[in-house]
Amino acid sequence: MFSQKYYALGSCRSEIRELFEYGKKRAAEIGAENIYDFSLGNPSIPAPECVKQAVLDALDADPLSVHGYTSAQGDLAVRRTIAEYIEKTHSHKCTADDIYMTCGAAASLTVTLNALACNGDEVIVLAPYCPEYKVFIEQAGMKCVEVKCREGDFGIDISAVEAALNRNTKAIIVNSPNNPTGVVYSESDIRALGDLLTLAGQNFGRSIYLIADEPYRELVYDGAVVPFIPNYYKNTIVCYSFSKSLSIPGQRIGYILVPPQTCGHDGIYYAVCGAGRALGFVCAPSLFQRVAAECIGRTADVSAYEANRKMLVDALSEYGYEIVPGKGAFYLFIKAKGGDSRTFCERAKAYDLLIVASDSFGYPGYARISYCVSPKMIERSLPAFKKLIEEYE
Ligand code: PLP
Repeated sequence: MFSQKYYALGSCRSEIRELFEYGKKRAAEIGAENIYDFSLGNPSIPAPECVKQAVLDALDADPLSVHGYTSAQGDLAVRRTIAEYIEKTHSHKCTADDIYMTCGAAASLTVTLNALACNGDEVIVLAPYCPEYKVFIEQAGMKCVEVKCREGDFGIDISAVEAALNRNTKAIIVNSPNNPTGVVYSESDIRALGDLLTLAGQNFGRSIYLIADEPYRELVYDGAVVPFIPNYYKNTIVCYSFSKSLSIPGQRIGYILVPPQTCGHDGIYYAVCGAGRALGFVCAPSLFQRVAAECIGRTADVSAYEANRKMLVDALSEYGYEIVPGKGAFYLFIKAKGGDSRTFCERAKAYDLLIVASDSFGYPGYARISYCVSPKMIERSLPAFKKLIEEYE
């Protein structure tokens, strides 16, 4: 026998992966240049030169140290550099003892959720949300509670969050810039959410944690500013990843920050270490811990995403698509013509246009376009977008 729960997870791919695999199959049939695959969020711009240099420099150092285990929570010097960077950039005081190195945001989230989980706990997710959240929350033995964002600007619906809060609420996950909408939650939304969680925590006599999932922090356009949430709400745990900022998703590197002012800080940090141990996420890749510390503050050339976004927004608005005004990540959320996202995306498929129906993000009626693709592919895809909307006229 084996675990039916994990069998179910492993044997049925996510809708996004399903579409991506379909794209590969179709490309083999009709040629890759005839497929417009906007399904995956895989960075399309190369890692900056500093990554290569940091790898080469690290390889020149003592191999036993470069390839050996670090402390379970990550190399001390690396954690110190990250803490200093956070303090300098976000004016938020913290130390190496508040940082736990992990394998990207996915591991950061599972470790954090497992560290917080107690019997009967609930975690709020703001829909639309990354479908893996539900998997991670349920794996940690908690209940996933969906709260819809405001239709229109897709900001946080504070009264809807208020209605969902109860004595069992342990945490809320906030992902900004957001996958799938691209929206950067405004400072006023973050402030209002922080105030609400403080009040609810007092009313229910327990701390409610805000888990800030931040793989897209540096991917912002048109001067958008991403509030550093621990400066607005003290019980914020940050799950950061270098996957997208440095275009190194395959290297699996990120960190968890448990800020010093978090209620029960020491207990939570130890629980993070314990969850990392139980889940097998000790000693994140040693080489890339060093690279992350060396390259901190630098990013891949995200202006390429900005140009892609502009090309799509200009063309799609001209054709008559309704676009959610997100200014971050590398996703565009558009209203599904005809109202049914699955039907709309199936009809797009007929033009070999692969976009993801929003149902799997917990918010039907839209479609996600990942624009971390080559600009040439976007150019080639535009007639297909045009034909698709013309079907509805
Ligand atoms: N959270 C969100 C919202 C994401 O979109 C992703 C990946 O695309 C992750 C977490 C996982 O990122 P990582 O590659 O750092 O594990």
